[in-house]
Amino acid sequence: KEFRNNVKPNWCPGCGDFSIQAAIQRAAANVGLEPENLAVISGIGCSGRISGYINAYGFHGIHGRVLPIAQGVKLANRELTVIASGGDGDGFAIGMGHTVHAIRRNLNVTYIVMDNQIYGLTKGQTSPRSAEGFKTKSTPEGSIETTLSPLEIALSAGATFVAQSFSSDLKQLTKLIEEGINHEGFSLINVFSPCVTFNKINTYDWFKENIVNLEQFPDYDPSNRVQAMNKIMETNGLVTGLIYQNKTRKSYEDMITGFKPEALAKQNIKITPEEFDKLVAEFK
Ligand code: SF4
Repeated sequence: KEFRNNVKPNWCPGCGDFSIQAAIQRAAANVGLEPENLAVISGIGCSGRISGYINAYGFHGIHGRVLPIAQGVKLANRELTVIASGGDGDGFAIGMGHTVHAIRRNLNVTYIVMDNQIYGLTKGQTSPRSAEGFKTKSTPEGSIETTLSPLEIALSAGATFVAQSFSSDLKQLTKLIEEGINHEGFSLINVFSPCVTFNKINTYDWFKENIVNLEQFPDYDPSNRVQAMNKIMETNGLVTGLIYQNKTRKSYEDMITGFKPEALAKQNIKITPEEFDKLVAEFK
């Protein structure tokens, strides 16, 4: 099971995205996938390159549209494990409408957000995840907007799996991705992934000092939604681990009627030449 390919990532040395790539590759192998069983769909941003760095089906989509594409792939071929991935700007700014509705739709897709609290590809502008007062080229006197809290939004939208990790904690991140893949429904995994080139505030050291690992709370129950919301708020959104999981709600695929488990390409769809011509004519 070789999920590595021979493409050398062109991320800056030290970028957190390297570890996320490694964690996806390890998790895919650990859950027993073969490369032909996995599709990695990505958005636009430095993180969006990830779909080209994993030996699996890959699609590098357009800005903010990673989730419509990922859901389309899953609907066309339920047999594939679908991982969607992109940055915080991609998923929580231009793509936020899709993110919220994908969460409440609950298709079986694992969404990994590479959260560096800045726009890296465009050379360092304030993102929805930047802190108030954060100074960049787009906010030279400091951001005057509040920071968006994706975990709280996900819980409010009816998420069935919410987790957060840190790119330096490869063990925890790999385990969470495995759990996300095995979850029957939509899984959101937000990952702090430092941008070493443009974000000089939210550095590796800053995260090590400020994140709160749920391992510290042996009594924490991830099936308790109220407790999950409280923990997110208590830690100012810096909690890591499996924050919430609802194992009872069925996925979209399991609830929709007439949705066959086989991939469309494998279904015996009978169609006459005349019907085929008529169908094609509709798209001319
Ligand atoms: Fe990573 Fe930042 Fe470099 Fe982009 S600009 S590759 S996010 S370190």
